[in-house]
Amino acid sequence: MSKRPSPKIWLKLLQRIKDKLKSDPTVIEVCKKYDVKSNVLDVVPIKFGDINVSATTEKGIITLNWRLLERENRHQIPMYIAHELVHYCQQSFVPTRSADDGDYLSNPFEQEAFQYQIKFIDDHLGEHEADKYVNQVLDHHDKEGKERQKIKKKLKARAQILASYRKV
Ligand SMILES: [Zn+2]
Repeated sequence: MSKRPSPKIWLKLLQRIKDKLKSDPTVIEVCKKYDVKSNVLDVVPIKFGDINVSATTEKGIITLNWRLLERENRHQIPMYIAHELVHYCQQSFVPTRSADDGDYLSNPFEQEAFQYQIKFIDDHLGEHEADKYVNQVLDHHDKEGKERQKIKKKLKARAQILASYRKV
């Protein structure tokens, strides 16, 4: 990205996304679990930064990769915020929890964040896109065979509940 947009621009964009997310069923579910209202989003700090992943949360501050501000990537911002919001809640409301121990995808805090993110994708873009994303994540972390199936099942657990409601 050649020139980075000013905070005035991306703060406005983030506020628009936050306002939309406040009424999202998956976001509401996350907030309910941590006993807060979804308008907690108004005080969740989100910034952009030079990071080597798409998004990360440290000490309750969400950082999104600058790359997500590029026009063709902007549509991904909500699903990353849905994932990072879980980490925000873990870090802010259950302070003893840490997300950096053990293998990334076997870490229960990561699994929880992915479960909500995948449910979010399933809800907005459908099961096919949710599946595609899970496979992408599993490929990225070189998960194969039995372990892959096991983690896949785990990560899709919440989306699965959604799918079973849909079938009724
Ligand atoms: Zn995570």
